[in-house]
Amino acid sequence: MTEQREPRYIQVDERDNVAIIVNEGGLPAGSAFASGLVLLEAVPEAHKVTLTDLAAGDPVIRYGSVIGYATRSVKRGSWLAEDSIESPAAPALDNLPMATATPAPLPSLDGYTFQGYRNDDGTVGTKNILAISTTVQCVAATVGYAVQRIKAELLPRYPNVDDVIAITHNYGCGVAIQAKEAAIPVRTLRNLSLNPNLGGEPLVASLGCEKMQPAQMLPSSTLPILAAEPYVMRLQDEEHHGFGEMVAALMEMAERRLERLNRRVRVTCPASDLVVGLQCGGSDAFSGVTANPALGFAADLLVRAGATVLFSEVTEVRDAVHLLTARAANEQVARDLIREMAWYDDYLAKGDIDRSANPSPGNKKGGLANIVEKALGSVAKAGTSALSGVTGPGERVTQKGLIFAATPASDFICGTLQLAASMNMHVFTTGRGTPYGLAMVPVIKVATRTPLAQRWHDLIDVDAGRIATGDATIEDVGWEIFHLILKVASGEHTTWADRWGLHNEYALFNPGPVT
Ligand code: CA
Repeated sequence: MTEQREPRYIQVDERDNVAIIVNEGGLPAGSAFASGLVLLEAVPEAHKVTLTDLAAGDPVIRYGSVIGYATRSVKRGSWLAEDSIESPAAPALDNLPMATATPAPLPSLDGYTFQGYRNDDGTVGTKNILAISTTVQCVAATVGYAVQRIKAELLPRYPNVDDVIAITHNYGCGVAIQAKEAAIPVRTLRNLSLNPNLGGEPLVASLGCEKMQPAQMLPSSTLPILAAEPYVMRLQDEEHHGFGEMVAALMEMAERRLERLNRRVRVTCPASDLVVGLQCGGSDAFSGVTANPALGFAADLLVRAGATVLFSEVTEVRDAVHLLTARAANEQVARDLIREMAWYDDYLAKGDIDRSANPSPGNKKGGLANIVEKALGSVAKAGTSALSGVTGPGERVTQKGLIFAATPASDFICGTLQLAASMNMHVFTTGRGTPYGLAMVPVIKVATRTPLAQRWHDLIDVDAGRIATGDATIEDVGWEIFHLILKVASGEHTTWADRWGLHNEYALFNPGPVT
């Protein structure tokens, strides 16, 4: 366990006038740091201590950026809590730097490979899964029943297939399918069915009377195999007499696909075939100094190896958008990013809210004062490479390099949309802790703090808190994450979430109306 260490704080940038307390459980008044700073009052772990005297209205600086303004005068060595910091306005979208600081390409990183399942469309799976897609919630329980029977009675005969899953959701019935925004949930469901880990063998269960018809969700023109053999099982079709025949029909269609999936074997693939989705959830003030920068270092390694790296969560990049438009590969990419930010500003405004609705009670307890501070820590995940592309929610990503795949920050909605974007590996950083996992792809969880990694020893895969205590560098943990990604992608190491079968539900993003 962590021994009691001498008082320690982390100042990210030399311009910062606040730092965060590293010690587990916080520090009492009178604690003296190596720098000579002495605490005038107790400061909780991860919360901010002032490094200079501040007058009311003075900027509060962390990550070298203004995260807000002091609402009262405080002496050096004080606890600056969230209620003492007033948030600034979000950066305006009409006067942003466009590709003004595009980073030069990073040196290529060759020779890294993993063992994956290559698909006909060129994508690569890190698992070999049969999925039954659904057009409507009405069929979810029936499909769930069939999946249980398939797993118990058929799957043991097909040992090369890892799992059988149902892609269920609450869309399809009573939705305004002609609404402009319906395109988002519809394409999300289509692209989920095409995720590289599902082997190009879609099977769709439909009720029959629903608004979202199978031909709209997954047209037969999507894949050659869909034109060649039936892929839709409709419960209301007159050929099915009773529940037993519906289940039997699903099992028969499933078995044909299991036979083909079972013939697949892992082959050596370059690291460039990885599509790694990055996300954070339950963030704290350590996220931006330990787990996220380490993941950002790993993201740079992946980009250097030619892979695709997805980062997302619009409200968590909104306040750092000026840094990202400057980093865009060209002006069009910057414009695409601004388009996604503006769409989300409008979406939030319709609900009479803005991006400041984001930080959660747990984020604040973890020392994050506001969305500006959270965003500056969040974008550290994106590393230092040029932003190569931007996609809308639920769109499939085919481009290499660092891609902003626009999604809400909600863990399950973001994860679902990254799966639709064709993610085949997921890395998730957390400070407060979450047992989050997905059935479709492995989820590597990285803790921002060592006490969390120790307390949740059988849920957290990587401890990035060692960066805060000085026991590891950002580069050390970044390489550790990179190597772990290759091992997990090869099926040589099982994440804790997969070990326990902790798989959250798919959550669609439906900004459109329901009738
Ligand atoms: Ca999230």
